[in-house]
Amino acid sequence: MLKEPGTITLFAGPMRSSKSRKLIEAIRDHERAKLKILVVKSPEDTRDGDKIVAKEIVDGKPIIMMPPLNARFVNNKRDVLRLVRKTHCEVFAADEVEFFGRWFVDLVQELAFERKMIVLLAGLDLDAWRKPFGIMPQLLAHATYTPKVQASCFVCGRLAQFTQKTGGDPRKRFEPGDFYEARCFRCHVMPEDLVAESLGASIVIKVSS
Ligand SMILES: [Zn+2]
Repeated sequence: MLKEPGTITLFAGPMRSSKSRKLIEAIRDHERAKLKILVVKSPEDTRDGDKIVAKEIVDGKPIIMMPPLNARFVNNKRDVLRLVRKTHCEVFAADEVEFFGRWFVDLVQELAFERKMIVLLAGLDLDAWRKPFGIMPQLLAHATYTPKVQASCFVCGRLAQFTQKTGGDPRKRFEPGDFYEARCFRCHVMPEDLVAESLGASIVIKVSS
């Protein structure tokens, strides 16, 4: 569905909740309307190179659900405004927006409310400790539309709104790799409580209780 100029849409939810798929679908809708679109991502989001990819886990393996989108890496507001001028875009889109700094909050307000652009975003609302992730609270406050998306818990199948880190370094907030699942509040475990987990066998060893 096409959004009006001067609006910000932010799809927010845990890992594996189809946020990227919804963002890509929204971008394709605006492409079909022949609008010029600029798609960006943060250099900190090192997964999938310069592509935005919608993946789902099927039988324990990530499957790419739709053709990926090309994105431009941007480091600051100046980078984006230069690209906006160069491309004459009417729509600005970004995935995994939790990785951007505070400048991004000012940027999207300027694009939507001063330049009358359509802004389409997706991001992780909470980190693996269930804490608001980066600039997401500010973006959710300023956004016009904030569809919250959920997933099915990877353990019990019930409604999942949290992200479980299942491997890697338990102190790191984000690591490239498939170390993340959606889990419900019953099945979610804090990352520091996971010392080792074999992804294949799902062996979880708790160091504290
Ligand atoms: Zn569960």
